Amino acid sequence: MAARFTLEVFVFDIVRAMELITILNHCHRHRGFVYQNARFSPDKKTIEVEVRPRQGAAAVCSGCHKPAPGYDHLPKRRFEFIPFWGILVFLLYQMRRVNCRNCGRVVVEEVPWGDGKHQLTRAYMLFLARWARKLSWKETAETFHTSWDKVCDAVEYVVVWGLEHRTLESIRAIGVDEIQYAKGHKYLTLVYQIDQGLTRLIWVGKERTIESFQGFFTVIGEKLASQIEFVCSDMWQPYLDVIRHKCSQALHILDRFHIVAKMNKALDEVRAAETRRMAQDGHAPLLKKSRWCVLKRKENLTSQQKFRLRDLLRYNLQTVRAYLLKEDFQQFWEYNSPTWAGTFLDFWCYQAMRSRIEPMKKIARTLRAHRALLLNYFKARKQFSSGVVEGLNNKAKVTMRRSYGFRTFRILELALYHSLAKLPEPELTHEFL
Ligand SMILES: [Zn+2]
Repeated sequence: MAARFTLEVFVFDIVRAMELITILNHCHRHRGFVYQNARFSPDKKTIEVEVRPRQGAAAVCSGCHKPAPGYDHLPKRRFEFIPFWGILVFLLYQMRRVNCRNCGRVVVEEVPWGDGKHQLTRAYMLFLARWARKLSWKETAETFHTSWDKVCDAVEYVVVWGLEHRTLESIRAIGVDEIQYAKGHKYLTLVYQIDQGLTRLIWVGKERTIESFQGFFTVIGEKLASQIEFVCSDMWQPYLDVIRHKCSQALHILDRFHIVAKMNKALDEVRAAETRRMAQDGHAPLLKKSRWCVLKRKENLTSQQKFRLRDLLRYNLQTVRAYLLKEDFQQFWEYNSPTWAGTFLDFWCYQAMRSRIEPMKKIARTLRAHRALLLNYFKARKQFSSGVVEGLNNKAKVTMRRSYGFRTFRILELALYHSLAKLPEPELTHEFL
């Protein structure tokens, strides 16, 4: 009885092995190679499938990608494939070396399912990398019983492939922005393409210096740089300098979002200082809980906040005057004509300079210094939407926050390209995901 049972299991195993090979032949077939002999490992946690060259099929040299006569065999290598019902799957193959006349040396062969030194098959790397866009890298590793390092390896393969195969021709508009990462003052420079039909991350640079941003122009080359028509940036001086030098023909626009953010920051300083001063002088805590009343746009306030704001406006506080200046400035963006916008800007700066509120005066000085660039907004405003850079940068921040594993620049760079660069992917004959 026991013997018969073992035999049944044995037969069952063979049938199953054949089914697995049938499936593999259906979705992961490679000319010149055949699958044979699928079996469980002794602990039943792994399935191993042998691969051998088809009779008479010559090996392909990995140096020149041409068939070449065989030389010898290397020890058997294990290539990890997509797990099957929670069971790890490995393809076992003994790589051949070829004596390539083209390359003039003995070279290891090229196999269609693998790539260089990667332990994972291309199909599995693409599979993991696609999941790593939907889940965090850690979750991806947990879901497929693999390691974070292997997920990272998979993403790197897909990103490197994508960067090699992407096309950058005809970039009309770019946006440049910095993003803070890690603790302390570590920054990345991100460059986005913000054309109407295509928005994507096109470059990640370390630091936010002149040298680092110049790296972007080295990558795209002079011809592409000379075709850029619009550049959108914040007021960070190194960016302004590089853009003036490398994209002198482009219309340079200051990013609206950054100006609004600067304005809010100034207002917050005024409010905080005044709150402290009033508390020291023993006045009633008028400004308590006022932060959102003055920072939010009026139409976004809750009814209670509106009431509180109306209350505040009765007092001739610095905060109130700064608030009114900030609200007034919103009108700037409504203009159509650069001339009228300029007139408004000059008047606003004049008022702010007379306000005797230092943070607002500082803003006015900054705006005056960048007057020409600010007015470019009106010359270009119909060309592309100004919120694009902000939206992309928010996505970049989410990408960074999603994993604590992104500690080094390289990992962060990979993660950002992977989720924001819309890179092309290597093609497989079967869609596993
Ligand atoms: Zn060769």
